[in-house]
Amino acid sequence: LFTELEGLKEQPAITPDGHRVHLYANTGLMADISPGLKRGAEGIGLYRSEIPFMIHENFPTEEEQRLIYRHVLNTYEGKPVTLRTLDIGGDKALPYFHFSEENSYLGWRGIRFTLDNRPIFMTQIRAMLRASEGLDNLHILLPMVSRVDELDAFNLLLEDACTQLKLEGYQVKRPPVGIMVEVPAAVNLLPFFASRINFISIGSNDLTQYLLALDRNNSRVSHLFDNLHPAVLQEIYRIVQLCRTIHLPVSLCGEMAADPLAVILLLGMKIEALSMSAYNLSKVKWLIRTMPVKVAEETLQKALTMESEVQIRELTKGVLIKHK
Ligand code: PEP
Ligand code: MG
Repeated sequence: LFTELEGLKEQPAITPDGHRVHLYANTGLMADISPGLKRGAEGIGLYRSEIPFMIHENFPTEEEQRLIYRHVLNTYEGKPVTLRTLDIGGDKALPYFHFSEENSYLGWRGIRFTLDNRPIFMTQIRAMLRASEGLDNLHILLPMVSRVDELDAFNLLLEDACTQLKLEGYQVKRPPVGIMVEVPAAVNLLPFFASRINFISIGSNDLTQYLLALDRNNSRVSHLFDNLHPAVLQEIYRIVQLCRTIHLPVSLCGEMAADPLAVILLLGMKIEALSMSAYNLSKVKWLIRTMPVKVAEETLQKALTMESEVQIRELTKGVLIKHK
C-alpha cells in the first residue's frame, strides 16, 4: 500500500466519476514546508503564522517575518500559498505577551486581537506583501471573523500598507483575501462578506467547538467533540451551499479534512478544496480517487437525516469498507 500511495504524488485528486478536489497542505513551521511538496500538495491552504510568533522571544520584526514568509512563498512558487494572519489567544499563547482572560476562547483572539494592536497587524501585513514581491501566489486569510466592520477595517489597513510600500519603492499589489469561517455568526453574514472577500476556508476545529459549546481540551467533555455531530455536519453543508449561490470559493482546513469518514461526506457536498497536514495527503487522495461522488452524495443525504454522530460514523464506515 505504501508504494501505491507514493505513486499517487503526481496524480490529481479526482473521483472515478470526474469530480476534482484540490489538495493543499497545512503548515506553520519552516521544517514542515517541504513534506507537503513531496506528497503532491497543490499549495499551502493554511499557513498558521502564529507558530513562528510562538517560538520567538519577542514580536518578530517586519524583516524577520518577511524572510519566513518569503521562504514559504518561494518554495511553493506558482502554487497558491494562504498565509493566515496572527491567530493568538484561545489556547495559543505567546511567551512574551501575557493574556489573562477568564474565557480566552471567547476573548481577545485572532482578528479581534490584531485589530486592537494595529502596529503588530500592520507590521505583519507589510511583511506579507513585501515577501510576495515578484511572486504571484500570496493569499491572505483572516481568523475569527464575526463582523462586517472587521473586514472593512482590514481592507483599509491593506490598502494603506500597499500605498505605503509603493511610495517606498516596492512593487506590491493587493492579494486575494479570505476569511476562516469558524465562528458560527460568520455563516449568516456570508452574503454581506461576499463583496469584501475573495474566498473562504471552513475552520472545522473551531466551528465545531463553538457550535457545540465544547472545549476539546477539557477531558470531562472532550469525548463529545466530533466534527460529525449532526449539527456540525448540517452547518457545513449549509455553508458550502450558501457559498455556491454567492460564488465564493470554499475550502476546508480543519482536522476533519483528514478524517476519511468525513471526507466521504465532504465529497458528497462536492467540496472543491481540502487542506490538511502533509502526512495525510496521500491517504485522502487515495480515498478521493476510489470514491464516486454519486456514492458520496447518497451517503451524505442519508447522514443528513441522522440524529447522532454515532449513526453517521457507522453509516460512513460501512461505505468505506465496501469501497476499499
Ligand atoms: C480551525 O479552527 O479549524 C483551524 C484550522 O484553525 P486552528 O486549528 O489553527 O484554530
Ligand atoms: Mg481556528
